Amino acid sequence: MHDTSASIEITALPAFSDNYLWLIHRGQYALVVDPGDAEVVEQALQARQLQLDGILLTHHHADHVGGAAALQQHWQCTVYAPESDHPAYQALQATRVKQGDRLTFKHFGALSCDVLALPGHTLDHIAYYLNRQYLFSGDVLFGAGCGRLFEGTPSQMYASLQHIAALPADTLIYPAHEYTAHNIAFAQTIDADNADLQQRARNTAHLRAQNLPTLPTTLALELATNPFLRCEALSQQAAFQHWSAIDVFTELRARRNHF
Ligand SMILES: [Zn+2]
Repeated sequence: MHDTSASIEITALPAFSDNYLWLIHRGQYALVVDPGDAEVVEQALQARQLQLDGILLTHHHADHVGGAAALQQHWQCTVYAPESDHPAYQALQATRVKQGDRLTFKHFGALSCDVLALPGHTLDHIAYYLNRQYLFSGDVLFGAGCGRLFEGTPSQMYASLQHIAALPADTLIYPAHEYTAHNIAFAQTIDADNADLQQRARNTAHLRAQNLPTLPTTLALELATNPFLRCEALSQQAAFQHWSAIDVFTELRARRNHF
């Protein structure tokens, strides 16, 4: 058996104040997810002597797509983007992808990449599920949190999170922002007795004190500590008695906006 994942490396490229642009590389070739800043990606490629083979866009926000046109022009590589007519994609000759599509890449052997539709943060938001092991979740799922509802409804976002929750528990998740510490502080206002959350707070503080990423995370850890994936359990709390899980989700998302 040839294990295609063994030779893949995934590197966080910090950008702006709290974004991670994820660089996926194998041999001398690389893919990048959500390159908001082309220069950050160019420097990383040059430092590692990599050639860019593809760009994966999760949604149309500028901090995710801002560097895509310059990178595409330089590398003449394929840009994958959601099927929507948002103007952010119009300058790009993008290959539009949707739920159920399976992508392969010229220089990445048998590596597969499944597209998941995860609306809520934006209506067009998609995620890339690489080799059925690594999920690039954009601004849908964060460490101990979830994205704001800019375009979608709470029901759409809740369904998107449930879609992620149904993946294998050992899935490694690569969100686009370092929000974990703040999200944990919020989670502790709701789920204070959760021992896994307390442990995660300690681990996260330790990592951030050294300026290290708290990501990737695992689905198992999120299921145990992320309040937006624990709405069913939280609905059993005295504070939320007789609430449905979706009502708990809606309330938590609203509270998080002001936290
Ligand atoms: Zn966004």
